[in-house]
Amino acid sequence: MRTAVVVGAGLGGLAAAGALARSGWQVTLLERNDRIRAERTALVLWPNGVRALRALGLGGGLDAIATPLPDTGIRRPDGHWLVQPRATAVERAPVVVHREDLHDALIAGLGDRVEIRTGMAVRTVRTTAGERPAVGDERSTVEADLVVAADGVDSVVRRRLAPEATVVSSGCAAWRAVIPWYRAPQLPPDRPVGSETLGAGYRFVAASLGERGSSGGSTRGGIYWVATAAGASRPESPETQLALLRRWYADWPAPIGELLAATEPDDLVQQEVRELRPLPRRYGFPVGPGGFVLLGDSAHAMPHHLGQGACLAFEDAATLQAVTREAVPGKPLCAAVESYSTVRLPRTATMVRQTRRMSAVLQTRGRLALRARDAALGRITPRLLGSAASAAAQWEPPR
Ligand SMILES: Cc1cc2nc3c(=O)[nH]c(=O)nc-3n(C[C@H](O)[C@H](O)[C@H](O)COP(=O)(O)OP(=O)(O)OC[C@H]3O[C@@H](n4cnc5c(N)ncnc54)[C@H](O)[C@@H]3O)c2cc1C
Repeated sequence: MRTAVVVGAGLGGLAAAGALARSGWQVTLLERNDRIRAERTALVLWPNGVRALRALGLGGGLDAIATPLPDTGIRRPDGHWLVQPRATAVERAPVVVHREDLHDALIAGLGDRVEIRTGMAVRTVRTTAGERPAVGDERSTVEADLVVAADGVDSVVRRRLAPEATVVSSGCAAWRAVIPWYRAPQLPPDRPVGSETLGAGYRFVAASLGERGSSGGSTRGGIYWVATAAGASRPESPETQLALLRRWYADWPAPIGELLAATEPDDLVQQEVRELRPLPRRYGFPVGPGGFVLLGDSAHAMPHHLGQGACLAFEDAATLQAVTREAVPGKPLCAAVESYSTVRLPRTATMVRQTRRMSAVLQTRGRLALRARDAALGRITPRLLGSAASAAAQWEPPR
């Protein structure tokens, strides 16, 4: 039987492990933490991410947890519209899911062909010609025909195989929270939860996950928000960080104030936003009868501005499943490893380029630059978001 090792049980690793197992591979999933668990935040899935999950056979699980996300337009902090909301065709509309719900669906998709080893932090990578690829910690080595590196932005495997890709700060920090449904503020009908507001170096996006278990809402429900601020992450306690957020976003349009007031310090998840610059030159490395592939943030970590990181990880997993479906160890599997790299490099490079343009727009500071940004936003943003949305919408899983 063909064997694969997947390093990392984040969204990308879980999707890849399940995909390979469902195609008949014997899979070992290695995770450095003692438990496999999801963040208590949420995630926007664009049509490409949804399509990738459907190609992976997870569409049924997704339908039960996804809440449609209407186009809310983009406002300035003074309430002026930068981009007016528009009606979006259902197939182009994104959805929002609670990460814990998505995690549960991905774990359900692992089936019984995946051996899970937690508490194993990979530190060694064997790439010796003629031998099977292998990874290990100080105590043991695990070899397989195929090794999938889904170990995130700080990937040990990528550092060894693609040292040219370095991790750099994206120049901003992000705070996210899900306010549980039972603490969610009651807003008047003319003031919907969903909104996006863009100021000088600051951005606030909110989306409703619905009521717990409600039809058309995520299983856990609640209100998700993400705040982005130019600069480094903050070392202070969650209480102080929340106080800072309330100060930074004071006077921003409703419902931002209500949402921050309803958030508790324990709800907050802060993250320094980082990316890979440059991207790896390859995502596939033939070794022995198969080789290594990089997947998800390990391959193409990027800022979250277009909400594409996990969507692209699911595309990676769907592509890997397609190119390896018939590939037996030896020349065919080595060719599949090359083919994965060839297919994924241009696709992810395009999305990274668009995300970087959005980064530049978001991080504009200074009054003149800001005025230019606001003027440009009216022109650039619909174009930029339009091309990002159509790139997202157009992706089809390879057959
Ligand atoms: C603020 C913010 C908002 C975002 N919003 C969205 C969004 O709306 N939509 C979207 O599509 N994307 C979004 N993203 C991006 C998305 O979260 C990531 O792209 C995605 O979670 C990456 O998944 P991954 O599995 O590749 O990596 P990770 O989630 O980082 O998982 C890596 C796993 O590998 C494990 N690991 C690491 N090193 C080792 C090792 N040496 N040995 C064993 N295990 C190891 C880790 O413990 C972890 O479990 C957002 C990101 C941020 C920061």
